[in-house]
Amino acid sequence: MTIPFFDGHNDTLLKLLEAEGDKERLFIEGMPAADIDLPRAKAAGMAGGFFAMFPPPLKGNLGSVVAGAGNAKGELPPELGLADAQASTLAMTAIALQIERAGGMAICRSAAEIRAAVAGGTLAAVLHIEGAEAIDTRFDALEVLYAAGLRSIGLVWSRANAYASGVPFRFPSDAEIGPGLSDAGKALVKECNSRGIMIDLSHLNAAGFRDVSALSDRPLVATHSNVHAICANSRNLVDWQLAAIAESGGIVGVNYAAGFLRPDGQWLKDTPMEVVVRHVDALVAALGEDGVALGSDFDGAMLPAEIGDVTGVPKLLQALLDKGYGEELVGKIAYGNWLKMIERTIG
Ligand code: ZN
Repeated sequence: MTIPFFDGHNDTLLKLLEAEGDKERLFIEGMPAADIDLPRAKAAGMAGGFFAMFPPPLKGNLGSVVAGAGNAKGELPPELGLADAQASTLAMTAIALQIERAGGMAICRSAAEIRAAVAGGTLAAVLHIEGAEAIDTRFDALEVLYAAGLRSIGLVWSRANAYASGVPFRFPSDAEIGPGLSDAGKALVKECNSRGIMIDLSHLNAAGFRDVSALSDRPLVATHSNVHAICANSRNLVDWQLAAIAESGGIVGVNYAAGFLRPDGQWLKDTPMEVVVRHVDALVAALGEDGVALGSDFDGAMLPAEIGDVTGVPKLLQALLDKGYGEELVGKIAYGNWLKMIERTIG
């Protein structure tokens, strides 16, 4: 039995951006170097997901940004300029549009469009930007990206920009690092609310989290974050953040990245599935059965070998069933909870 699932976060468009060759064919026919491609997504039961567009740093700064062993130096990477961010974001948007035109995915603008795509057997993609560097403060780029299908924005990746400040990768640390939203950041939150663009809190620092929580009229969402009480990485959510998300009727997608899972904070591939299940248990306890979903971080981080790539997700869902989660609850965590949240935040 294959359980359909919807994923809260992947960086596959960046993987495709950096790949040589015909990118839509790589996605549609298979790209072994990536964690997600269409053949494996279909085999695993992936119905769809948020496809992130993370504007990569300039080449010289690459080593400082990857969330992995030896790179968690605890400092924020340098800021990225508008022109550089727009160049890569437009290129990733173009890749998604080309895959859609070739029949490999449907770029969905609402829960209804996701349901229609899934019913027709097409992979449902919601376009997300991870760090709003590509959006000028006049929101001209927002207008264009929205027209191309953008429906989800993380104000920041783990660096600062015109809108807010992200958390550097630190262990052990909480997210009480740096200032809250700028005036432009507050305006962007309001603009997202009025258009029906979901706001993602993963990577945002604590002051920014409080500002979004106070300003946004939608449930709070962290697409790919874990529980700080289990793994004290700065990227994970502390008790008051989980309480604020619960209070808002929001959701958290559990992240499979090893360094955000393990109690020792290490980036090791031999991280057991049981640790992912522990985070799901804690998220269900904090947020309830409607507040937990998946947020893989495929193609964006070092993942446990037991998961490996998208074909490992059924093993996680089986581990939840084995732990005593009923089929209905596993179905909600895998798929239903994201669909409901998208309906409430996007439409
Ligand atoms: Zn991320």
